[in-house]
Order: sequence, then C-alpha cells, then structure tokens
Amino acid sequence: VLYRTPDMLKPRYVRVNTLKLDVQSAILELGKHVKVEKDGLVPDLLMLPPNTDLHDHPLVLNGSIFMQGKASSMVAAALDPEPDWDVLDACSAPGNKTVHLAALMRGKGKIIACELNEERLTRLNHTISLSGASNIQVLHGDFLKLNPHDPLYVRIRAILLDPSCSGSGTTANRLDHLLPSYNASDTVDTDRLNKLAAFQKKALSHALTFPAVERVVYSTCSIHQIENEDVVESVLPLATSLGFRLSTPFPKWNGRGLPAFDGSENLLRTDPVEDKEGFFIALFIRKSSGNKLHC
Ligand code: SAM
Repeated sequence: VLYRTPDMLKPRYVRVNTLKLDVQSAILELGKHVKVEKDGLVPDLLMLPPNTDLHDHPLVLNGSIFMQGKASSMVAAALDPEPDWDVLDACSAPGNKTVHLAALMRGKGKIIACELNEERLTRLNHTISLSGASNIQVLHGDFLKLNPHDPLYVRIRAILLDPSCSGSGTTANRLDHLLPSYNASDTVDTDRLNKLAAFQKKALSHALTFPAVERVVYSTCSIHQIENEDVVESVLPLATSLGFRLSTPFPKWNGRGLPAFDGSENLLRTDPVEDKEGFFIALFIRKSSGNKLHC
C-alpha cells in the first residue's frame, strides 16, 4: 500500500488523436463520465482524475484517444515537425510517438517509421492503423545501417530517436525504488547500461549526420545519467561541428538535466515519482533553422 499511494493520487492523461477527433469533442464525450481538463503544457493532452480506467472506452478502442502519459507525450511535441516535412522515427515500435507525430503534422508530409525487431512490427502496424494516419511508411531495418545520403533520406528534416533503454523510469521499474529494501548498487546492471549507452551514442551520432535534418529529439524512459546526459555530452563535439546546438524543450518545465556539463540545463527530465514516469528529452536544432519557441 505504501508504495502505491503516489500513483493513486496522480492524474491520468490521454492524448486526443486529432486525426480522428477534435479536442473539444473529446472533452465533451469524456466529460459525460469524469472531470476533464486540458493539460496546460502539452497540446491535445487531457487530464483526468486519478485511477480513471478508460481501457474499454469506445474512444480508446476506435483510436480517437490514446492512453499516453504526459512525459511520453512531450517527446513528439518537443520535436514539433512542420506538417509538410519528411520525418524519421528511428526506433519506432510500438508506435505511440509515431502516431503522435502524424497528428502533429495533421496527416501531411511523410513519416518513415523504422523498427529493427520483427515481432514488434505487428504492434507498430496495429497502432498506425488504429490512428488512421495515412502518411506513415514502415521500414523494417536497422536504423544504424540507413545511409543518410540515400535519396530516400536526404529530405528528412526531423528525427525522433527514442532508442532501447533500461526503462528504469517506467512504472514497473520505479516501484522497486520505493521499497525499503531497495539498494541501487544491487539492482543496476552496469554491464547492460554500458551496452545500452554505447548503442544510444552511436544512434544519436548517426541521427545528426542526415544531411537535411534540422531538429533531432533524443529521448529515453531511463533515470540513469549514463543513458541521458552522458550520451548527449558525448555527441556534442560532432553536433557542434555539424552546426547543431542544444535547444530547450518546454522552457516552462522545471525538471532539467543533471549538471553534468555546461548547457545541460537545456535538457528536460521528468521525475519518476512526482511525474509518474522518469523521462529524458534532448532537443538539437541546426543553427540555420527557424527557432520556434515552445509553449
Ligand atoms: N518510440 C516508441 C514508442 O513511443 O512507442 C518506443 C520505442 S522503444 C523505446 C525502442 C525500439 O527501438 C524498440 O522497439 C526496439 O526494437 C527498437 N530498436 C532497437 N534497436 C534498433 C535499431 N538499431 N534500429 C531500429 N530500431 C531499433
């Protein structure tokens, strides 16, 4: 009971899939049963009372709303692609952020959803079909092996990179942290973290080398510095040489990066207990691109 209490007091969030339903209609429909408020920060995100269960709600079953947490919904919103852009979701299954991108792009432009794991493609295809998006092309392959100069990718303007990570910020994992017996050094598998971080660094460096890319978001649902600030710091020389700088997603959000290097205050962290999920977001923008401000 002790370690479940925080969740019971936290609001639930749903993201309106604006490809299928407008936000006002979603508020009216959901408001028949529960109190609904718009989230003040993330567009198209609605806040519901704690413990609201919508698993069987018709709007969920028909893809009009997605049960997506606030932190997870901040990732595609931070990338903020223009509707007519070519966009790459580098590690995409099960596709929650891919279809969020499609909604933000109002179903226009083109999204390539890359996924390595064949089994996870079924889930990805299901999410896409549920969303009603028709501008997403699924690519079964290894993101690291995509040639940035292939004509298929030379027009890509934005990349969302949400690679495999330890998942240490997600519900199942963070509950361990609240147990009295929890001891970080017992449970953290350093070898696994090192391997994940090595892949994450490679993937982020690769994303920065696509010739027309102007915006790159790197995100994890990990609380570990080695997968977050350290990954970003390691690519900074390359990023700078290619004309990128770190931008500040959601400047009004209080949770920022750990003070690992000068500029880490641009990074965004959500707290695994306070915000329900421990997410990390870094946003790189190319100096030459328009500097759009987030809410
Ligand atoms: N962004 C997804 C979402 O919000 O639904 C979650 C992505 S999950 C954290 C990471 C995904 O990356 C997994 O499905 C994994 O199979 C995939 N992946 C891992 N290595 C990859 C690679 N080299 N190329 C493409 N996908 C990869």
